Amino acid sequence: MRPSPTAQSEAKQRAAVLAFNTRLRSCRLCHRAGYLVEAASVPIARDPEPGAPVPRILLIGQAPGLRANLENVPFAGAAGEKLRLWFELGGIPREDFWRKIHFSAVTRCYPGRLPGARGDRVPSPAEQALCRPWLDDQFTVLKPAVVLLVGLLAIRTFLGRVPSLTAVVGTATFRDGVRYLPLPHPSGVSRWLNEAENVAAVGRAMGRLRS
Ligand code: SF4
Repeated sequence: MRPSPTAQSEAKQRAAVLAFNTRLRSCRLCHRAGYLVEAASVPIARDPEPGAPVPRILLIGQAPGLRANLENVPFAGAAGEKLRLWFELGGIPREDFWRKIHFSAVTRCYPGRLPGARGDRVPSPAEQALCRPWLDDQFTVLKPAVVLLVGLLAIRTFLGRVPSLTAVVGTATFRDGVRYLPLPHPSGVSRWLNEAENVAAVGRAMGRLRS
């Protein structure tokens, strides 16, 4: 029996995403430019789950963290755990997380620690510019319906100079057929999540995934 047109187009899209990920994993532009000093910092690209349609929800963070880099899995560790809890509020059970969500970031390699601080270094504007074509290509290949912007860098990359997380978390922006939903970064480094009203705003944001 011949595959249905839907199955054919899903197979074509899966092949395009796999080819994109293969190209991305070979990128060393920032290493060659001297921005990434950690030789072990390589692009993280997760392939779609076998047997599942390519996700139409794209999650864009700032850049992979140390644990994600070590394990070659986006959002590994405690921040990923919290993210999965948030998605449960949006009706996506944790076991379906990788079947429903596709991962991206403003820059795709671990940038290293910020000297003298708890957190990771924010990728420089030059690194962001070098990595931007990957992000644009990912939109072309994936054609996402919903884009979750995690953290202020990702939010500002797409929505411009928003004044604060408080101004945008819980809101939705529609542009070119895509729904953008801003979120804070789920790591414990963010004090923004200590406020009850901010946690409620995250709940509203995730509720918009259901609508
Ligand atoms: S951050 Fe982006 S542009 Fe830079 S080396 Fe990694 S994948 Fe390439």
